[in-house]
Amino acid sequence: MIIQMKKNSTKKEYEKIVEYLKAKKLEIKDASTDEVRVFGIIGDTSSIDPTDLYAFDGVKEVTRVSTPFKKASRSFKKKDTIVKLKNGIEIGGDRFIVMAGPCSIESEEQLRIIAKSVKKSGAHLLRGGAYKPRTSPYAFQGLEVEGLKILRKIGDETGLAVVTEIPSPDLIPLFEEYVDIIQVGARNMQNFHLLKALGKCNTPILLKRGLSATIEEWLMSAEYIMAGGNENVILCERGIRTYEKYTRNTLDISAVLAVQELSHLPVIIDPSHAAGRWNMIEKLSLASLAVGASGLIVEVHHDPEHALSDGAQSLKLNKFTHMMEELEKISDVLGKKIK
Ligand code: PEP
Ligand code: MN
Repeated sequence: MIIQMKKNSTKKEYEKIVEYLKAKKLEIKDASTDEVRVFGIIGDTSSIDPTDLYAFDGVKEVTRVSTPFKKASRSFKKKDTIVKLKNGIEIGGDRFIVMAGPCSIESEEQLRIIAKSVKKSGAHLLRGGAYKPRTSPYAFQGLEVEGLKILRKIGDETGLAVVTEIPSPDLIPLFEEYVDIIQVGARNMQNFHLLKALGKCNTPILLKRGLSATIEEWLMSAEYIMAGGNENVILCERGIRTYEKYTRNTLDISAVLAVQELSHLPVIIDPSHAAGRWNMIEKLSLASLAVGASGLIVEVHHDPEHALSDGAQSLKLNKFTHMMEELEKISDVLGKKIK
């Protein structure tokens, strides 16, 4: 972090801020000239919010030179993190993992039909919402515990690992019992109370990017989980809110590259919530593979017209099969293993 003082700042003002930083066990490296008083802060600056330093008289500009996240940072760990699931599936590295299933678990029968089909087409994990964070309180809210039990049952029947969204910290023990990956939804990305609690559990976490979150805010949320001791975090870009209304959200595909520069954590793409339209999913999935994402989470339904949520963005079973075939065709060329 570099601090530049105002031209008319006094020695006393400078000393006051230096004293404050030294009390935080930070070292000061003075680089002032006759013209300008400027100094660097050396040490772990993650406990300082640069904007707080403007509270000191005489401060002109504070510039961060390192990231505010540590454990999630590429400079902390150079090698890509590979998240290993209990059943041996690895997420990260040269693998391309596909998580597929309905937006909401509606019944055992519904999930069985979809799971059997996506498994046959090559999906690695089964997704399905049991607790649904809906914009309207009158919309279908999910089957809750019953949904979790169905998810586990069908996952075991078909040999698919399972992923589903957690709404609150009190449900962590239940989720640890029933699921292989706990999903943090976009709306909960900055629910720090939830993130802290997830840091204490052992199940891998799929952390979706918040609707309007910057990449730095998203990585800070990963840091919350990792700081608690759970380093098995998978990031998920699911589209962000922009002025564009044609699609449900705007898929920020460059976020994958940004995350890979800044962090060692695997990052996957959710084209369904990004586009909001089923006819765009296949091409966006191919783009996700091409950009180097570690996989996808995609909504699939056997009867989207009658789905209880997100039917418009759900692929029919045969369309999902086709998408998997297309992904397989190009995965080798792109150096990714999908099988
Ligand atoms: C979902 O995966 O069904 C979901 C609600 O996603 P998001 O949190 O990205 O909106
Ligand atoms: Mn959905």
